Amino acid sequence: MAVGNPSKALSPYICSSCSRSLKLRSRKFATAASPDIYDVVCVGGGPAGLSLLTALRSSKATSHLSLALVESQDLDRAQKWHLPPDQYSNRASSLTPSSQSFLSQIGAWSHIDTSRVQPYQHMRVWDGLSSTSRISFDSPAPEPAIAHMTENQNIIRALLARLDSLEPISLLDKTSITDIHLGPPPSSPAPEHASLNLSSYPHVTLSSKHTIAARLLVGADGLNSPVRTFAGIQTRGWDYDRHGVVATLKLSSESSHNPENPRGVTAYQRFLPTGPIALLALPGPYASLVWTTTPTQAARLKSLNIEDFIATVNAAFRLSVVDLDYMFTLSSGQLSELQWRESVSPNTSAEANGDIPAYVTSVQESSIASFPLRLRHASSYTTHRTALIGDAAHTIHPLAGQGLNMGLADSKSLASAVEYAITHGADTGSEMNCLDKYNIDMWMRNNRLLGAVDKLHWLYSVKSGPVVPFRGVGLRAVDALGDLGLKRWFMRQAGGL
Ligand SMILES: Cc1cc2nc3c(=O)[nH]c(=O)nc-3n(C[C@H](O)[C@H](O)[C@H](O)COP(=O)(O)OP(=O)(O)OC[C@H]3O[C@@H](n4cnc5c(N)ncnc54)[C@H](O)[C@@H]3O)c2cc1C
Repeated sequence: MAVGNPSKALSPYICSSCSRSLKLRSRKFATAASPDIYDVVCVGGGPAGLSLLTALRSSKATSHLSLALVESQDLDRAQKWHLPPDQYSNRASSLTPSSQSFLSQIGAWSHIDTSRVQPYQHMRVWDGLSSTSRISFDSPAPEPAIAHMTENQNIIRALLARLDSLEPISLLDKTSITDIHLGPPPSSPAPEHASLNLSSYPHVTLSSKHTIAARLLVGADGLNSPVRTFAGIQTRGWDYDRHGVVATLKLSSESSHNPENPRGVTAYQRFLPTGPIALLALPGPYASLVWTTTPTQAARLKSLNIEDFIATVNAAFRLSVVDLDYMFTLSSGQLSELQWRESVSPNTSAEANGDIPAYVTSVQESSIASFPLRLRHASSYTTHRTALIGDAAHTIHPLAGQGLNMGLADSKSLASAVEYAITHGADTGSEMNCLDKYNIDMWMRNNRLLGAVDKLHWLYSVKSGPVVPFRGVGLRAVDALGDLGLKRWFMRQAGGL
């Protein structure tokens, strides 16, 4: 990744005698005793970290801050990421309108390759145990869209392009952190930092053996966040004993997601007792699959030949739960099983009505993968001179497609807290004057969402018992509300599906 000339001074909170020029790639690093000091060091250059840095650079109030990004991956590759128009990454996300508006506000949306973005205007969600329990979300086609599907890499590349167009930051990619500790005791400050109490600053030791110090250290370093560990922030949560199977699919017809179609584009999700299966439209005849299922079923899906994998996905939107369970007992032959079952009881009207997706006809090579799913929530997003954002702060079940959106909302909120501190002459690392504002703004909001999505998971995991008819009644009742309050609320929350 090309690094500009990050010759930023520390923000005015530090006395001018301490300001110094920082050119990380072209200079010798400082020693641990006299480290380079940044206003903000962000560890992790995923969507959350990059959007925070872009927001800070884009705002007049914070554009002068000295910023550093530490990322273990090669950001050059991320910036040059390219796939032909008939191929899509299997890591795609559904961006809610507020995420899209945040990306626009920080100038990143104009760098998105819109030919790889698919807005959708409808969602069909139904209970696998009862085909009559459905809920439909509809926007007047073609705009406004409920949400936009695109690849995570498209978002990352756009954020990097936007960052590149702004005042340079220090990009330390292909670099991981080996240690984080607080600075030396106040009795022995390096001469050029005599006026700073560096003992309160997190010092980050890099794999290159160099050390940088942060007035504010941000952990945007994903689920296993080393920054969170350093900060001693506990998490609560559990593993779902479920895997998310993802793949890029090609459908037989574009009818359900052709932008020219006056009906608009539809996303589908069916709640099976093992977990929901979702088919989210990508441009053209392509779609992204996210199928939450047991580790055993995920392993079976990944072991199938392509024809049988496709047949099992088609069956998951069409057959009864009992029939589908039976298909999982077979080590092969799902295609002929589906053909036989459909010849006995065809289900053509549902597809014609757009109630179920068009048939999957092929799967992009090497796009089938799976991820273990868990819920994690940090007990706090902030502590002394440290803040967590994105998956480092919370990991959510993908059934509502909210993880990346929550990370973008964290970035927006933290950037606004930093802006508030700067405009009030306060220290950006101060819990009272900056970080508490972010923690209060986001923790409870995210906790509610994590709780709601977790309850949905458990509610729909139940195969039988008194709750099953009630959840059907619940879905039908919400659907019957039309565009009134509760349904609109669901639509807003479910913008990510
Ligand atoms: C199956 C599945 C489907 C999903 N679908 C959706 C969806 O539709 N919509 C949605 O909003 N979300 C979705 N999500 C969630 C979404 O993908 C994540 O929430 C999001 O990518 C997290 O972004 P992040 O920037 O917080 O973390 P990450 O993307 O994990 O980025 C963390 C970065 O930190 C770097 N890093 C880690 N450790 C270090 C270190 N020690 N030193 C330096 N760098 C380090 C990593 O290289 C990485 O670049 C889905 C998730 C799954 C599993």
